Amino acid sequence: MQNFDVVILGAGAAGLFCAGVAGRRGLKVLLLDHSEKVAEKIRISGGGRANFTNRDIDVRQPHKHFVGENPNFCRSALSRYTPADFIALMQKHGIPFHEKHKGQLFCDRSAGDLIDMLLAECAAGGVTRWQPCGVQALRTTAEGGYELDTGRGTVQARQVVIATGGLSIPAIGATDFGHRIARQFKLRTIEPRPGLVPLTFDGAAWAPYAELAGLALPVLIETGDKKTRTVFAEDLLFTHRGLSGPGVLQISSYWKPGTPIRINLAPDVDLPAALADAKQRSRKLLVNELAQWVPARLADAWVAQDKEWQRPVAECSDRALARLAERLARWELVPTGTEGYKKAEVTLGGVDTRELSQQTMEATKQPGLYFIGEVVDVTGWLGGYNFQWAWASAHACAMGLQP
Ligand SMILES: Cc1cc2nc3c(=O)[nH]c(=O)nc-3n(C[C@H](O)[C@H](O)[C@H](O)COP(=O)(O)OP(=O)(O)OC[C@H]3O[C@@H](n4cnc5c(N)ncnc54)[C@H](O)[C@@H]3O)c2cc1C
Repeated sequence: MQNFDVVILGAGAAGLFCAGVAGRRGLKVLLLDHSEKVAEKIRISGGGRANFTNRDIDVRQPHKHFVGENPNFCRSALSRYTPADFIALMQKHGIPFHEKHKGQLFCDRSAGDLIDMLLAECAAGGVTRWQPCGVQALRTTAEGGYELDTGRGTVQARQVVIATGGLSIPAIGATDFGHRIARQFKLRTIEPRPGLVPLTFDGAAWAPYAELAGLALPVLIETGDKKTRTVFAEDLLFTHRGLSGPGVLQISSYWKPGTPIRINLAPDVDLPAALADAKQRSRKLLVNELAQWVPARLADAWVAQDKEWQRPVAECSDRALARLAERLARWELVPTGTEGYKKAEVTLGGVDTRELSQQTMEATKQPGLYFIGEVVDVTGWLGGYNFQWAWASAHACAMGLQP
């Protein structure tokens, strides 16, 4: 039977990086993945260019960009392996990249560069990689190590790292394996749910807006009550079934089913003042005035909702204009759900951080068993935060493994 210092399950972002770092430390590493292709999620990320980190991460205040029962859990790993560290690795490999906006860094050419770099690091660390290779069973041995029944026979290791990710995009290999292993070892998990996901609305109620599908505009979008209010200034995209775009994906990670979201569709203008001014000076239809501040298609759909808005602005009552301004600046709606794991970029919830050491990611009740990356109840904002968590948690784990 083959013996390893560590078996890492899942050759995605976290697993590949952990394998490379552990291998370079001199550990004998086996990396397994049930998929034929390596790191498919990296390949499709960031529109094919992988938004691989974010310069704006505030490691002292991780709750600003990370969601979970205890967002501060990730402070230790994030502060010991920072965006600058990953950037230095990219530079060492000569991979060109650029900043888009809000600190988001993308590969210039393609996400394939990033995958090649991770594979090169694994090769430099002498990592053995079996792919495709599933795992049927994981059990402890009398000596305090682990035994795994894999598609290529039974192997033994003193340590096992679970890097099998979340449930998003099952079509490219996502499974609940990590959550099942956590339960097998009686570790608590936080109920998973889709995050960074488009929101959907009741078909009949959405009908007037469905014709806006494809329209994008900058908005302020918020959810929560006075205490939990979270706001994003980002683009919103109308779809046939609801709303998407960066603003909606961000807010979806904070949205609680049954509660409303509120959207300011004209965040850059003082609408009550602008409409009052238009009423004084303009002979145009209200819809034409409105089209200065919001896209014309949205203006058309909006005034269609009320007869009093379908006339020259000078003839509109002050009350009708105030109602229009209020409804555009505070459009409140209750999503019926989300597009689910098929479209979600991440999975919220996962292995409860109270079960893990923030220094090494080892399960405190189960020595030698580690969880890293998205399988853990740490979820980042859109914008490179999830990959940085994958790198940082993988690094903390790789440095904590026993040689
Ligand atoms: C469309 C899309 C775009 C994204 N874009 C970005 C972005 O630009 N920036 C960013 O920061 N984040 C992005 N993300 C999120 C990011 O991809 C994930 O957070 C990150 O990949 C998580 O890394 P991970 O290693 O934990 O899991 P993954 O990368 O998902 O890797 C898990 C691996 O485990 C394997 N596996 C699963 N189950 C088993 C099993 N039973 N046996 C063996 N192997 C198994 C899978 O095949 C997979 O290779 C995006 C996600 C999606 C879906």
